[in-house]
Amino acid sequence: MSGRFLSIGECMVELSQAGAGLLRKGFAGDTLNTAWYARACLPADWSVEYFTALGDDAMSDEMIAFFKEADIGTEFIGRIKGKAPGLYMISLKDGERSFSYWRDNSAARQLAADAELLREAIEACDVIYFSGITLAILSRNDADTLLAEVRRAKAAGKLVAFDPNIRPRLWSSYDVMHATISEGARAASLVLPSFDDEAVHFGDVSISATIKRYRTLGASDVVVKNGAEGATLSFDGVESFVAAEKVEQVVDTTSAGDSFNGAFLAHYLETKDAPGAAAFAAKVAARVVSEHGALVAREKLGLTTS
Ligand code: ADP
Repeated sequence: MSGRFLSIGECMVELSQAGAGLLRKGFAGDTLNTAWYARACLPADWSVEYFTALGDDAMSDEMIAFFKEADIGTEFIGRIKGKAPGLYMISLKDGERSFSYWRDNSAARQLAADAELLREAIEACDVIYFSGITLAILSRNDADTLLAEVRRAKAAGKLVAFDPNIRPRLWSSYDVMHATISEGARAASLVLPSFDDEAVHFGDVSISATIKRYRTLGASDVVVKNGAEGATLSFDGVESFVAAEKVEQVVDTTSAGDSFNGAFLAHYLETKDAPGAAAFAAKVAARVVSEHGALVAREKLGLTTS
């Protein structure tokens, strides 16, 4: 089977420490990370497209070149005059990482403002992926546009996958966050939450409670990730559990969930075997947490198939 995978969201410039007074520049963001791992794990007859908005500055050009180099499609990326990508910096103090963000005014905030381009992209693709962060950065009006388009895709029978990726700091209030994330889940056919976030922010007392809540909203399938504890799946109402892989030394958990999602979807699209896809995704995510950075090179993921 071949097809087109579309990931919708924001990629930022990432600055991390590279020695005294030196910063290393990279590019990352939850939905881009998932696109990266989907690309790494899908066969070559699948294309992986990224939908976002960028500006007309040099950094936007560099980001486009980076996507192309990674074989991630840029056909549906709008460019906004006078805008630039968002940026974040990772600081390390006593082994603890902290993040500073400059994203309030990023081009990606307007990614759904071009409703025609959004519709064109979603219509052209077979699988749609977006997250709670994608919804959080949009104006109410643009979030409604995006939600309406993904609902159309779901109604047309496409796989629409949503990771709530709960980041309270990005939302104006808890009420808005709860309501909009629930709308995102309702618009999706598959929801991929992380249990620790759901327990803290939605008050779920168990993984079953998370599954039940998202199924009640209308997502037929749910995969609840739970770090080193493994993942619990509910597909067509049938529950199963898939253990995480043992990791010798956890180096950097950035992108664990994003890589799991990309690998899961890639394997699932090819096999329709959800537990098999979760076992594969656990292997990929274990490699990712064993390496530095959000985007681990394909060669280091231990993939055997092309
Ligand atoms: P998120 O990054 O969204 O919080 P999780 O922490 O639940 O997501 O991790 C996603 C997946 O990554 C898990 O389901 C598991 O397969 C893998 N993973 C994360 N942390 C570990 C770990 N310490 N050891 C082994 N696997 C891990």
